Amino acid sequence: MEKTIGRMSLYRRLLLDIEKRGASHVYSHELARVAGIGAAQVRRDLMTMGFSGSPSKGYHVADLIGHIGTAIDPPEQQRVALVGVGNLGRAILAYFHGRRPKLAIVAAFDDDSAKVDKVVHGCRCHPLRAMSEIVPALDITVGIITVPAESAQDIADRLVNLDIKGILNFAPAALRVPPGVFVDTMDITTALEKVAYFARKGR
Ligand code: ATP
Repeated sequence: MEKTIGRMSLYRRLLLDIEKRGASHVYSHELARVAGIGAAQVRRDLMTMGFSGSPSKGYHVADLIGHIGTAIDPPEQQRVALVGVGNLGRAILAYFHGRRPKLAIVAAFDDDSAKVDKVVHGCRCHPLRAMSEIVPALDITVGIITVPAESAQDIADRLVNLDIKGILNFAPAALRVPPGVFVDTMDITTALEKVAYFARKGR
């Protein structure tokens, strides 16, 4: 299920690019090639969603984008909080600003008074102590953690106590959360160092 949802998100991004280039239809094998997935897998995924294409024209791009949205987007806007407005946090705020209206980062938190009460890429940065008031008030259900590793578990605990059900964690820390809370950790420094290591080896 987790993998299918991930592929749907990927298909939609590719379809949005295809739509921007002006194409109205796409074949499963074309989508498969750019996604780096087998065409049968693409057809199976779309069929599971109840979507089928025409053998002669392929899939209708705009309809498919809409269909994927219905399958993976929340019915109403789902709100996200980001904790840690450092370099990475600011980059994430910039990247997502206005990108997914149904999945909006509506509040940021930091414990550095120099960052508090500023609007960063459209998102207000609040003091950490305001989290217990703002998270329920804005009905936030997802948290993004971009604080250093040593603070990540504490932030995760606070978020979980505020009934957050999903955490995207960018800190290099293995978070412990209760059942029912979904965590995905993305350690981009390790990822870059790994790629760089193999890039050196390949020379
Ligand atoms: P900057 O130099 O702007 O602080 P940075 O990316 O080098 O950027 P980090 O040390 O990685 O900063 O920290 C990321 C952010 O997390 C910073 O804005 C910092 O103030 C904040 N931060 C650190 N610990 C906590 C915490 N316990 N609660 C909330 N925010 C925190």
